[in-house]
Amino acid sequence: MTQAYEIIEHSYDVVVLGGGGAGLRATMGMVSAGLQTACITKVFPTRSHTAAAQGGIAAALNNMGDGDDWRFHFYDTVKGSDWLGDQDAIEYMCREAPAAVLELEHFGVPFSRTEDDCIYQRPFGGQTLHFGKQMAHRTCAAADRTGHAILHTLYQQCVKHSAEFFVEYVALDLLMDTDGSCRGLLAWCMEDGTLHRFRAHRTVIATGGYGRVYFSCTAAHTCTGDGNAMVLRAGLPLQDMEFTQFHPTGIYGAGCLITEGARGEGGYFTNADGERFMERYAPTAKDLAGRDVVCRAMTVEILEGRGCGPNKDYIELQLSHLPREVLETRLPGIMETARIFAGVDPTREPIPVLPTVHYNMGGIPTSLHAEALTLDKGDPDASVPGLMAIGEAACVSVHGANRLGSNSLIDLIVFGRAAAQSAALGVRPGDRHPPLERDSEERALARFDRIRWAQGPRKCGELRLEMQRTMQRHCAVFRDGPLLDEGVAIIERLAAGSREDLGLSDHSLAWNTDLAEALELDNMMTQATVSLHSAVARTESRGAHAREDYPARDDANWLKHTLAWLGEDGAVTIDYRPVHLNTLSNEVESIPPKVRVY
Ligand SMILES: Cc1cc2nc3c(=O)[nH]c(=O)nc-3n(C[C@H](O)[C@H](O)[C@H](O)COP(=O)(O)OP(=O)(O)OC[C@H]3O[C@@H](n4cnc5c(N)ncnc54)[C@H](O)[C@@H]3O)c2cc1C
Repeated sequence: MTQAYEIIEHSYDVVVLGGGGAGLRATMGMVSAGLQTACITKVFPTRSHTAAAQGGIAAALNNMGDGDDWRFHFYDTVKGSDWLGDQDAIEYMCREAPAAVLELEHFGVPFSRTEDDCIYQRPFGGQTLHFGKQMAHRTCAAADRTGHAILHTLYQQCVKHSAEFFVEYVALDLLMDTDGSCRGLLAWCMEDGTLHRFRAHRTVIATGGYGRVYFSCTAAHTCTGDGNAMVLRAGLPLQDMEFTQFHPTGIYGAGCLITEGARGEGGYFTNADGERFMERYAPTAKDLAGRDVVCRAMTVEILEGRGCGPNKDYIELQLSHLPREVLETRLPGIMETARIFAGVDPTREPIPVLPTVHYNMGGIPTSLHAEALTLDKGDPDASVPGLMAIGEAACVSVHGANRLGSNSLIDLIVFGRAAAQSAALGVRPGDRHPPLERDSEERALARFDRIRWAQGPRKCGELRLEMQRTMQRHCAVFRDGPLLDEGVAIIERLAAGSREDLGLSDHSLAWNTDLAEALELDNMMTQATVSLHSAVARTESRGAHAREDYPARDDANWLKHTLAWLGEDGAVTIDYRPVHLNTLSNEVESIPPKVRVY
C-alpha cells in the first residue's frame, strides 16, 4: 500500500545533517559566517555518539614540556595510517590542530589542567616525539569525558549563535539533480510523522560511523551510517570501507569502551600467565602501539591458548598498580563503567577486555575542504557539486588504514571548521534555489514506502542480528579469502532476502521506532555489502585490514584507496584512486612508505 505524502518545504543556504562533534562545529561556523543553516539530527545533539568519547583530542600543544611539535604528530599519523592516509590532508589536520583546540578552550571546554594551569595532555597509542624515538604527551583531555565536554560546549555555542535545529528528524535521502549536484535532502519528523524537503546550496553529511553493522561494538545504537548509505543510493562511491578499527579494550561481554587513556596513564595488558606480552610484539611502544597492532597481538595470545578466564577467551587490563588519586581524577568514568559492566573494582582487580569494533576509517571520500569526491571521467579529485561530508562519515583521508587514538575528535573539529570556511566562500547568503527535479525524491519515497509497508515474515531485529553476526565472523581482526567470500555470499543473500523477508507490524508515521530501525537496517546492509567486497578485493595486509592469506603490505600494487559503488540491483563496482603522498607545504617533508614497527 502507498499513499501520497504532503511534503513540507524548507529553504536554507546550508543544511548540516548530524549534530555530533563534526556537525555542531560546522553548524556553528556556518551561522557565524552569516549563512542560514539548518542542523538536522535524529537524536538530540548532545546525545550524539561524540558524547561517549573518553580519552581526548590530539594536538601538539607541548603543554607537558616534552618538546612536542605538529610535525611529529604528522609523522605519527602517516605511520599510523600505514601510508594509506593522504599526506596533504594529514599535514592540514596536524598543523591546524593546536589552534583548533585552543579555540575550543576559548569556547568554554573544561579541559583538565596541569599544575601551571595549561590544558592537561596524556600519552596515547602511536604518538611519539622525534619521529618514533619516545612517547609523546599529546592527547588533550577533560578527565575521561572529553567528547561530552566538547559536545556540550559546541551545542551552547550554536544556541548562542541562534542556529536552527530540527531534532528527531530522520533524514531519508539526498535530493540529487540529473546533472549530479546535490540540492538538499528529504527527512521524516518522528514527532508528528510529517515529511520535509530541505533545499540547500550545500548539504553537509555528518552522520558518524556505522559500527552497529557488527555484533560487538563500542558505538551507540544510532551509529548506522545513514549518510554513507544515502551517498551509495545517490550512485556515488564510498572509500576504503574494508578498514574497520577494533579497539583493544572493549569490556569482555558488554563491549563498552575502556579508553586508551587507561594505558596512557600507565595501565598494561597481561595474559593467562600474568605476562606483559606486548613487550614481545612492540618492544618500544609496548601497550601503546597502534590499535591494529595491539588487537592482533591480543588475538594471537588468545588463539595460542594464553587467554584469561575459564574459557581462555579474554585479556586482562591491569590498573590496580596506579595511585588511587590518578584513577579517581583522570579516569573516573571508566572506573564506574568497569564496576557496572565488568563487575570489577579497577583499584584492586584487572578488567577483562577484548578487541571490539570501534571506528570506521572508510566513508565518503572528500577533499580537505570537505567537498565530497567521486571518480569522474578518470579525474580522481572530481567533486560533487553541493555535497560535503565531515567527521566519521567522511574519509578525507587522514586515518588511512588505521586511525590513531584521539585523532578522530581533532578530525571532527578541524574539518568541521574547514567545511564552514569553504561554504562561506562558495555560498552567497540568501541566493535563490534552482527548480528541483523530482526523480530522486520519488525514488526516496518509493524506498520509504517499500520499507514502511513491508509484509515479510521476519522482524527487523532478527535480520539485523544475522547481519551483525556475519560481519563479526567474516570481517574481523584477521581475515582470509574463503572466509570473506563466504561472508559476501551470506550478506548478499540477506540483503536481497531482507526485501522480501522483512515485515513491519506498525505502519504509522508518528514515533514509529520500528520503521526507524528498519530504515537503519536497510542502510547498514548496503555498507556491510560494500565493506565485504572491498575487503575481498584488497589482497594485502595494511593497517586494520589483516589478511592471513596475504600477510604482507604490498605497496607496488595496493598503495591506493578503494572506491566502491552499489548498483540498484545490489551489484558492487570497485575502482581505485591514488593516495596523496605529497604534503601541502614545504614546512614538512612527505614520508615515503617504510616498514611499520612500534
Ligand atoms: C565509546 C567511544 C569512545 C571514543 N573515544 C574517542 C576519543 O577519546 N578520542 C577520539 O578522538 N575519538 C574517540 N572516539 C571516536 C569519535 O568519538 C567518533 O569518531 C566521533 O565522535 C564521531 O563524530 P561525528 O560527529 O562524526 O558523529 P556522531 O557523534 O556519531 O554524530 C552523528 C550525528 O548524525 C545524526 N544522524 C545520523 N543519521 C541520521 C539521520 N538519518 N537523520 C538525522 N540525523 C542523523 C545523529 O543524530 C548524530 O547527531 C570514540 C568513539 C566511541 C564509540
